[in-house]
Amino acid sequence: MAIKRVDQLDLAGKRVFCRVDFNVPLDERQRVTDDTRVRAALPTIEYVLGAGGYPICASHLGRPKGKIVPGLRMEPVGAALADALGGHRVLVTDEPVGDGARKVVADMREGDVVLLENLRFDAREQGNDDAFAKELASLAEAYVNDAFGTAHRAHASTVGMIAHCPHRAAGFLMMKEVESLGRLMGEVERPFVALLGGAKVSDKIAVLENLIRRVDALVIGGAMANTFLRAQGGDVGASRVEEERLDLARDLIAKARSAGVELLLPVDAVVADGLDAASGSVAPANAVPAGMMALDIGPQTREAYRDRLLGAKTIFWNGPMGVFEKAPFAQGTISTARAVAESGAFSVVGGGDSVSAVKKSGMAERISHISTGGGASLEFMGGATLPGIAALEG
Ligand code: ADP
Ligand code: MG
Repeated sequence: MAIKRVDQLDLAGKRVFCRVDFNVPLDERQRVTDDTRVRAALPTIEYVLGAGGYPICASHLGRPKGKIVPGLRMEPVGAALADALGGHRVLVTDEPVGDGARKVVADMREGDVVLLENLRFDAREQGNDDAFAKELASLAEAYVNDAFGTAHRAHASTVGMIAHCPHRAAGFLMMKEVESLGRLMGEVERPFVALLGGAKVSDKIAVLENLIRRVDALVIGGAMANTFLRAQGGDVGASRVEEERLDLARDLIAKARSAGVELLLPVDAVVADGLDAASGSVAPANAVPAGMMALDIGPQTREAYRDRLLGAKTIFWNGPMGVFEKAPFAQGTISTARAVAESGAFSVVGGGDSVSAVKKSGMAERISHISTGGGASLEFMGGATLPGIAALEG
């Protein structure tokens, strides 16, 4: 069933519940240190305002675990939203539901925006409690979900309340995520290359399994590569390896072979005796000297991966190629980011660290889609149906 987008709803005069992702970072004095997520929701909120609707924004913030935590109040987020919107009153309620919230909503004037108090101050949010869901739904006549980052969680504000909201739609940000990631799951322009790296094979099993059935080439880097190299009998020294996943790695190698998917593993690595080393040296990826760790892909591997990526028409990338947080081990990730950008392919990057690596490399503008939802993007790419998306259908 199709999902409507917010601009397909009739919103004039309606109160519109907007589930947004305002889970922003705060400093020790509860100031918002990065308002990217607030700004990302602006197109949807501004559309609702422009259509004559009354936006009631709601999000969780941090992990209050069902209790009121003063340091996780929405007040500073409301201030950031007011700044970002400019010229609109932003009214923050002192509870997510209840008489206070109802009163603030009832008193809204045209152009006002309400921001409900932290949804996770009430344990019933994460419990997907129906009474709580009904209370949330009773605040509005329409429902819009723009919080892709929590779409993999079946909570009252992402799933439960939708059953009580006949007028429902995805916000612009959510729709872009669904369309961009969804495009990778359908008929794509080939070659389709998946670039996977990062910390652990075990975090990405579903993604690997799902992509093996779809891609032309699987390009592996990061610590994950060591587990594959070790599974093939390579000596990876003191590198990070998941010993208990060697069978899984062998199984994935076999699956790739039988599916005709080319599997690229590093041939050389930048190695050092620890993460804090001032510099690294180059060694064969399958013959890392004793006591040394492979912390980045080496120069020959960089070239090979770059060639592969430049020839691609569709790219999905998750997981840095090395310990990109440290300058001596960032080259692999920077060079792949450049290649993805230069390829001209339809490119999607997902995953918390991968997204920050791409931003750090300065290539973000040249990537077709940067997915905002870390866990949600990976679950989607693992082939899962995300409850928050399924609930918007029909
Ligand atoms: P994402 O958040 O994009 O899904 P991950 O969380 O899986 O990515 O992986 C990111 C982490 O993997 C980074 O902190 C990075 O330092 C680490 N990493 C990458 N390559 C290596 C390596 N060769 N050895 C140790 N850690 C690595
Ligand atoms: Mg991560």
